[in-house]
Amino acid sequence: MNTDSYAPLSPPRRVLLGPGPSPVPASVLAALGKPTLGHLDPHFLEIMNDVRSMLRAVMRTENEPTFPMSGTGSAGMETCIVNLVEPSDKVLVGVNGVFGQRLCEVARRAGAEVHSVEREWGRALDPEALLKKKKDGPFKLLCVVHAETSTGAVSDLGACKRVAEELGALLLVDCVTSLGGIPIDLDELGIDAAYSGTQKCLSCPPGLAPVSFSPRAISVVHERRTPVASWYLDLTLISNYWGEERAYHHTAPIQMIYGLHEALRLVLEEGLDNRHARHARNAGALWSGLEAIGLELAVPLQERLHPLTAVLVPDGIDEAQARRFLLEHHDLEIGGGLGPLKGKVWRIGLMGEGSRAENVELVLRGLEEALAAQGR
Ligand SMILES: *Cc1c(COP(=O)(O)O)cnc(C)c1O
Repeated sequence: MNTDSYAPLSPPRRVLLGPGPSPVPASVLAALGKPTLGHLDPHFLEIMNDVRSMLRAVMRTENEPTFPMSGTGSAGMETCIVNLVEPSDKVLVGVNGVFGQRLCEVARRAGAEVHSVEREWGRALDPEALLKKKKDGPFKLLCVVHAETSTGAVSDLGACKRVAEELGALLLVDCVTSLGGIPIDLDELGIDAAYSGTQKCLSCPPGLAPVSFSPRAISVVHERRTPVASWYLDLTLISNYWGEERAYHHTAPIQMIYGLHEALRLVLEEGLDNRHARHARNAGALWSGLEAIGLELAVPLQERLHPLTAVLVPDGIDEAQARRFLLEHHDLEIGGGLGPLKGKVWRIGLMGEGSRAENVELVLRGLEEALAAQGR
């Protein structure tokens, strides 16, 4: 085989306004190219310490452990479930989109008896409906997705916490698309376990999953009767590497941790409040712009998520063709719908670095042209 025929990589430069990954700032890309260190190098251990403390600041928690798991957001989900769930434990999941469904599937595979409360896709979870499940308990865990990226709906975590208390359950929260985009304060809300991902509002490439466990959740992990079924995601083993002992477990993805270090540094430099305000401002401009060109939004205003907007595809428009038009003419990526929303919505992400006024203008202009190209 003639391997000389392979050209070096040269991926096009896209504007990523889909459901993730989001655009990555130049300084984060530069961090990924810094020299590799050994995973026990004293300098790398300092970098890990910084990442841990920056993550605690961004997640607004004092929790130990708070650190990134090696793997994407779904590895964070799996980490929370496999460490907290033992076979036959009862778990209650609020489901209003793809990621609630995935939580059910992961919990089922961990041996849990899974109960779910469905809500129409495009709406927030209904705390009353969750509470009505109390009769089927006792539940060990209540699992909710803060920001459903598959629909663009945001749920009320304060209300979910009150339900968890009524149920006597730990509260597990998916904050993959909320962290760095909309306010979430782990300690103030009393969240027991949370996971996120790097490629949504933190604007780092995909590859790490920050997780955080409260002291209450950690005591549940320590009281397990059975070993955690996943060796790779066993929090106790990994804590020995991220904690004081620095014991080898698996080789940390060094460059990804550099990238996250820089991404978190940028989040804190901007300030969480400023960043949330920026996401709110640009989402508001997008919503009015979409309505001004005659498009309808899928989620009611009160339940709408700033980092991700679902727009209804007008009758007679081929949604995939419109997305191809944006990619070809503007190097612009937006997302299509999933599950029951497949073919019915576009999903526009204004996440992290992507949340900018010029991107709002670009996607509005592009969509107008794409609609015109199909005779509208
Ligand atoms: C993206 C996402 C995930 C899964 O993350 P991956 O990085 O794709 O594994 C989980 N939950 C939500 C809400 C997400 O948006």
